[in-house]
Amino acid sequence: MYDYLIVGAGFAGSVMAERLARGSNCKVLLVDRRPHVGGNAYDHYDDAGILVHRYGPHIFHTNSDEVFAYLSRFTTWRPYEHRVLASVDRQLLPIPINLDTVNRLYGLELTSDGLEAYFRQVAEPRPQVRNSEDVVVGKVGRDLYEKFVRNYTRKQWGLDPSQLDPSVLGRIPTRTNRDDRYFTDKHQAMPRHGFTRMFERMLDHPSIHVLLQTDYRDVQRQVRWRQMVYTGPVDEFFEFRFGKLPYRSLEFRHETVAKEWHQTVAVVNHPNEHDYTRVTEFKHLTGQRHHHTSVVYEYPRAEGDPYYPIPRPENALLYQRYQALAEATPRVHFVGRLATYRYYNMDQVVGQALTLYTRLAGLDRRAREGAARRGTLPLLLPAATADASPLTT
Ligand code: FAD
Ligand code: UDP
Repeated sequence: MYDYLIVGAGFAGSVMAERLARGSNCKVLLVDRRPHVGGNAYDHYDDAGILVHRYGPHIFHTNSDEVFAYLSRFTTWRPYEHRVLASVDRQLLPIPINLDTVNRLYGLELTSDGLEAYFRQVAEPRPQVRNSEDVVVGKVGRDLYEKFVRNYTRKQWGLDPSQLDPSVLGRIPTRTNRDDRYFTDKHQAMPRHGFTRMFERMLDHPSIHVLLQTDYRDVQRQVRWRQMVYTGPVDEFFEFRFGKLPYRSLEFRHETVAKEWHQTVAVVNHPNEHDYTRVTEFKHLTGQRHHHTSVVYEYPRAEGDPYYPIPRPENALLYQRYQALAEATPRVHFVGRLATYRYYNMDQVVGQALTLYTRLAGLDRRAREGAARRGTLPLLLPAATADASPLTT
């Protein structure tokens, strides 16, 4: 008998498994249909012995001290600040757009004040920011939008920026200084020995049983469990009752090149040429030294594994219908990027899972207290152990 059947061994499922086992003394069965843990953050050594991310580049960054402290229990870190160049007009220019981007693109020598004045001049007023085109054109004008954003976005999403929520391009800031970091979060670092090693340490507990290459539907009736945590696609859970929720997919072309370095930064974006959107060279992320180097090209696809929920109003409406079903489904808890249809980064998924755990542990505590008062047996879970962590309730 398991207290929890957890579907999916990515961040959402693994954090839940770890917390429930270590924090609440639960017995957990964690299943994933892939042959490995880690979900999309899985990394491994390729044939050349280079650490690569199978499902595209994963760079950890967060402003949350709580999330960072939590993950730091399972890994040490390699400080890493991400920098990206975009190939535009035969130059490699910093993205997010900053002072150097504009000066080098147009052959100018603007100061920060000059760039602010320039943006005021070229920006098209958008009193209401309704979509991702408005976000960018309203800040930096049409030319920069067309050179850096429109085509990349059309390739990545199969949609024009005007068809996507403001939140998509809201991810990328615009700067008038020379800061060329992709992220400005308080914590920016990579797990020193990789994501997979971190997951293995999270899940190394006698009460966590991991079953790989297994669809939960093949075991859910064969094992006994009290509650389920589901982290797969929410529409699939309900057998697409209201139709398919749109997800964007990617095809990854991994390559090892017989030279030490391929490009000067970890990621080069290609908004306007090629079928791929970006090229990532992993050694920049991991700090590994090797006489060869491994890279991955990302080709956006309409079909394939669901990687990106697509943020636009009609999809949000469809998701709301599934969300209502999810909330009305007893004993099943939905968490993670696919199960809650949110374009979340890793740290947001960890935060979401920690919040769910806190809620479940609180419910359990109240159930046990009620049971003790009534003199009956606990309803849901065995007693929580004294885990000294501030994250447990
Ligand atoms: P997932 O990692 O998708 O895990 C869900 C798991 O559930 C999967 O392993 C799947 O196999 C399993 N599953 C589904 N259905 C079933 C079933 N029926 N039975 C059994 N198992 C099932 N975030 C960042 O913070 N920084 C980045 O740089 C970054 N880069 C990204 C790049 C790409 C190309 C992509 C696609 C995402 C990126 N992300 C990044 C986001 C990050 O991958 C997610 O936030 C995070 O991995 C989500 O974790 P999750 O557990 O919700 O989902
Ligand atoms: N984007 C763009 N040009 C770029 C980089 C990003 O137009 O050079 C847009 C694109 O729509 C992309 C979104 O901004 O999907 C978010 O970019 P991010 O790098 O956060 O994407 P992710 O790493 O999640 O794929």
